[in-house]
Amino acid sequence: MKSKKNGVVIGLEVHIQLTNLNTKLFCSCSSDYRGKEPNTLVCPICLGFPGSLPVINKKAIEFATRLALALECDINKEFWFFRKNYFYPDLPKGFQVSQYNKAGGKAFGDRGHIIIRSNSEKKEISLNRIHLEEDPARLVHKGSIASSPYTLVDYNRSGITLIEIVTEPVIRSPREAREFLNNLKSVIQYTGIADLDLEGSVRVDANISIEGYPRSEVKNINSFKEVERALKWEIRRQKNLIKHGKEPIQETRHWDDDRRVTIGLRSKEFEKDYRYFPEQDLVPINLDDDFINKVKAELPEMPNVRMNRFQKDYHLSEFDSEILVLDKNIADFYEEGIHFKANFGDEEYKMYCNWLMGDISRWLNEHNKNILETELKPEELANLIEKIQDGEITGKIAKSFVDKLMKGKSLANIIKESGKKRLADKKKLESIVREVLEENPAIIKDYKDNPRALEALIGKCMAKTRGTADPEITRELLIRNMDDYLEN
Ligand code: ADP
Ligand code: MG
Ligand code: ZN
Repeated sequence: MKSKKNGVVIGLEVHIQLTNLNTKLFCSCSSDYRGKEPNTLVCPICLGFPGSLPVINKKAIEFATRLALALECDINKEFWFFRKNYFYPDLPKGFQVSQYNKAGGKAFGDRGHIIIRSNSEKKEISLNRIHLEEDPARLVHKGSIASSPYTLVDYNRSGITLIEIVTEPVIRSPREAREFLNNLKSVIQYTGIADLDLEGSVRVDANISIEGYPRSEVKNINSFKEVERALKWEIRRQKNLIKHGKEPIQETRHWDDDRRVTIGLRSKEFEKDYRYFPEQDLVPINLDDDFINKVKAELPEMPNVRMNRFQKDYHLSEFDSEILVLDKNIADFYEEGIHFKANFGDEEYKMYCNWLMGDISRWLNEHNKNILETELKPEELANLIEKIQDGEITGKIAKSFVDKLMKGKSLANIIKESGKKRLADKKKLESIVREVLEENPAIIKDYKDNPRALEALIGKCMAKTRGTADPEITRELLIRNMDDYLEN
């Protein structure tokens, strides 16, 4: 019996490249392939020459351990690799070295989870497993795959280390899927194993079904935004089929991000098609507790823990803390910045957060940069906030400085050049006020009958200070000093 609840069921398989590794998974070729001349970072191992023997990259095992610990997976301390056989030009050996959690095999880590926010509730997304595998080569086409007259193969990517993260089918909407990916990216950034902002460093296979019906799998989606779009499209397509009395079939589909539709590729391949068997050219791997404990001890504080600490130490709201810790670079910047000034307290902590999440983030989005790619230093933002707090500049003036600050101009210079320092020094202002009163007997005479003449006097003060006089203080001082001149 099919349930007709029509709920959405989503499970993701996320492939990430460990971009912070220097070398490939089974050879010592450089893994820094972006922007390099094709087929220059290769050797007999990653080209799949007969007789070549792979050697495991120890650092890759350490990175996988970091991620497994960060996601709280159960690590399988003894495992070996498997061959996943299929024939395609991106795979010179005719098989991909991967892990397999059946036939006596084990994934690198089982279970684990990521916590996300869904409709203002916290929700735990359970993972099924994570495993290590090698990246195939990169196929390059002229224009689209369908119309290209040829296919080029770049083996620089062949053998790059991938980790696949497989969720349980517990994601219930495209929005939740996006949220999951953002949080996963954050955890990965904290572990230091990869920079997922690099082009091509993440590929997602999205499995989706309507409750009670078979699922489709949309392969190889390159960005989180596109995952959300592809899922939305699939939900509409599958619901539409069901509405018209047809059944979705279990199949593999391709997301065309130009046309923003999914296209049926093939009926799903089944595991037996891959003829998995143990990779005999690599020895089984044993992780001992000392190794795992050492990796654990070196792990930085993870975003969830940091979020709680931000609430406790800086009295930020849960909401502010959550957003602030998501990008480690922003969170590091924050903590460095607020500690520059010994007299900063809760009010400045909140202001600093607001500046980072508001004007600074907006600038970063507009310029498509991360905070490390700008010239802004944490101390300079602390200086800016100090000057606002001291009344030296107004918040409005400060906002007009953001672009120059991001480009590396010092706050002191910006203030000097713009002349936009707020003049609030009462002694200085008073002498200007008295000068103006001295010089303008006609306006003072007018003021006796017409209180609005005061505005003209404020204008004169503004002119003398190039617009920097604090208008409220100026007004107050003019009124207070007026009596001396009215009597004349
Ligand atoms: P397979 O080995 O056939 O690919 P897995 O059990 O490895 O299947 O699951 C692959 C992905 O499919 C996982 O992310 C899982 O959460 C997801 N998945 C499983 N069942 C469903 C379903 N009914 N609807 C949507 N996704 C599903
Ligand atoms: Mg699968
Ligand atoms: Zn190589």
